[in-house]
Amino acid sequence: MTAAPAANVDPAELEKFQALASRWWDPHSEFRPLHEINPLRLDWIDRIASLSGKRALDVGCGGGILAEAMAQRGAQVRGIDLAERSLQVAELHALESGTTAEYERIAAEDLAAREPGAWDVVTCMEMLEHVPDPGSTVRACTNLVRPGGWVFFSTINRNPKAFMLAIVGGEYLLRMLPRGTHEYEKFIRPSELAAAARRSGLEAVEVIGMTYNPITRRYRLDARDVDVNYLAAFRRPA
Ligand code: SAH
Repeated sequence: MTAAPAANVDPAELEKFQALASRWWDPHSEFRPLHEINPLRLDWIDRIASLSGKRALDVGCGGGILAEAMAQRGAQVRGIDLAERSLQVAELHALESGTTAEYERIAAEDLAAREPGAWDVVTCMEMLEHVPDPGSTVRACTNLVRPGGWVFFSTINRNPKAFMLAIVGGEYLLRMLPRGTHEYEKFIRPSELAAAARRSGLEAVEVIGMTYNPITRRYRLDARDVDVNYLAAFRRPA
C-alpha cells in the first residue's frame, strides 16, 4: 500500500501562529504589522481585481484580517487555514463585526481538488514562507481560481538586505515580530515566485514592494523596491 502524500504543512509553523491566536485582532500585538499593511494590500488588490461582487478565497487567512476587509469591500469571502484556533477567532470576529466572511479548516491543495476554478480572486499573503513546498501552494491557488481570475501572493525576498531588515531588524532590534517568526532559507525571490507561477500556468500582472520606515513607523508600496517585502499579482489566462 502506498502512503498518502505528506501534507504541505509544517506543524511547528502552525503552532507559532496558534499560540498567539487570541491576539489576532489586537492592533498592538505581534500582529500589528499585518494590521498596518492591511489597507495598503487591500487597496492594491481591489485596484487590480475590483473586489465588489467577486468570490474571493484567502488562503492562510489566520484571524481573518484581510478576509474581513475584502468582505467589507463587497466580495463574497471564504478564508481557509489549517490552524483551528485562528479560525475560531476569525469566526468570532466576523460575528462581532457583522461581516459575512466564512471560514473553513482545509488545505489549499484539498480545496483545489474539491472546488477547482471556483474563485474569481485568490489571495495568499505572508504564508508561502511558512510552508514546506511553496510551489505546491502556488499550484493549488492556480487550480482554485477560475480562468481569467486573479491570484495575489505576498512574501519576503531572500538576500542579505532582507535578512538584515526582516529578521535582524524586525525580530531582534525593533522587536516587531517574535524571534523565530521567519527563517531566512524559506524566503522567496520574486524570480522564484514568478517561475513557480509560470510553471503552474499563471501570467504575471504586477510586482510591487512594501517598505517600512522605522522613523515614521509607516509602510508604503513602492514599485522600485522589492528588496524585502513584496506583493505579486498574477492572472490565470481566460
Ligand atoms: N494571511 C494572513 C496571515 C499570515 S500569517 C495575513 O496576511 O493577514 C501565516 C498564516 O499561514 C497563519 O495563519 C498560519 O496558520 C497559516 N499557515 C501556515 N502554514 C499553512 C498551511 N500549510 N496551510 C494553511 N495555512 C497555513
